[in-house]
Amino acid sequence: MPDPRKPSLSPTNDPWLLTPGPLTTSPAVKQAMLHDYGSRDQAFIAMNRRVRDSLVAIIDGQASHVCVPLQGSGTFAVEAMLGTLVPRNGKLLILVNGAYGHRMAAICHHMDRPFEIAETPENVPVDVAALDRRLGADPAMTHVALVWCETTTGLLNPLSAVADIVAQHGRRLLIDAMSAFAALPLSAKTTAFDAVAASSNKCLEGAPGMGFVLARPTSLEQAKGNSPSLSLDLHEQWIGLEKTQQWRFTPPTHVLAAFHQAIAEFEAEGGVAGRGKRYTANCRTLVDGLRAMGFQTLLPDHLQAPIIVTVRTPADPRFDFPRLYERVRQRGYVLYPGKLAATDSFRVGCIGQIGIEQIEGALAAIRLALDEMGVVDCAPPK
Ligand SMILES: *Cc1c(COP(=O)(O)O)cnc(C)c1O
Repeated sequence: MPDPRKPSLSPTNDPWLLTPGPLTTSPAVKQAMLHDYGSRDQAFIAMNRRVRDSLVAIIDGQASHVCVPLQGSGTFAVEAMLGTLVPRNGKLLILVNGAYGHRMAAICHHMDRPFEIAETPENVPVDVAALDRRLGADPAMTHVALVWCETTTGLLNPLSAVADIVAQHGRRLLIDAMSAFAALPLSAKTTAFDAVAASSNKCLEGAPGMGFVLARPTSLEQAKGNSPSLSLDLHEQWIGLEKTQQWRFTPPTHVLAAFHQAIAEFEAEGGVAGRGKRYTANCRTLVDGLRAMGFQTLLPDHLQAPIIVTVRTPADPRFDFPRLYERVRQRGYVLYPGKLAATDSFRVGCIGQIGIEQIEGALAAIRLALDEMGVVDCAPPK
């Protein structure tokens, strides 16, 4: 067990990020950003090609999907996916059980795309039987959108059951896989979906600054002219890349170089299986350690994705999250506030370039902070 009184720092003397992203990256990933590339440089074009091909391979999508990278954070990719692939006369059903589902609804509202939401509470998976009924009752619904791991809570939604129902009804599925992509298995050979969006800086452990959408080329072809946005038009971005190998507007060259390195490290770790295994061990250690201190997690284990853990705030009035955050931060670990409508909580992430040692270090720092605050009972309000 690391000494909790001594600050622990990453190899580049940064605190460890136990957050939903941006995350701790490896030294080599940061090192990869120390070079300038021209966007027409053969080295950059080759890196770009390899990144796109590797991302498609992660979902076994070589025969079915293409990769369209996009500048910006993950939300830009989600907005581009919805705006490009849901036609103006289409209708989207958004399955909501947290902030990222609501964000997709806000995106559709801004773009003036017809949509409805099907909502379950934040600690309840999306309702597959209700989805089945809803699609049966509304033939005008063309698309369904799902957040795979709802990062608001860390809840794992039943992606393959949702995909089966959507396919049975002949509708199309769009997935926000931001916080699960590359940590949990998804195969385009066994799960039917039109497109999946994710970003460089979550489970692939790259630098923030670009997202990507893996989409069926036929869907992209049909989507010409759909997008209400010039810069978030995935059809145009895809056509440009296929024709000229160029991103339409200035590419985030340093971010792409870092992502290229991050993907090499992901592959060396054993791909999805290897990464998923490390995160699962992180999550197990974290949940067991928190429970041993008397904390309660929001979710039961069977709904918990190995990504981020939501912890219910203790009832003890001496517990103060900003103080806990500051004390734990001084010891080298960054926690994250909660984002729940109904329950007071905070969050601890299990992803990024961290392992059991960092999780144990953070647990020890939390324990010490509790002692300093004089909190003896971590049980949440009844
Ligand atoms: C992180 C995340 C996003 C994108 O967030 P950005 O802050 O725009 O990168 C979208 N959906 C989910 C589920 C996420 O975890």
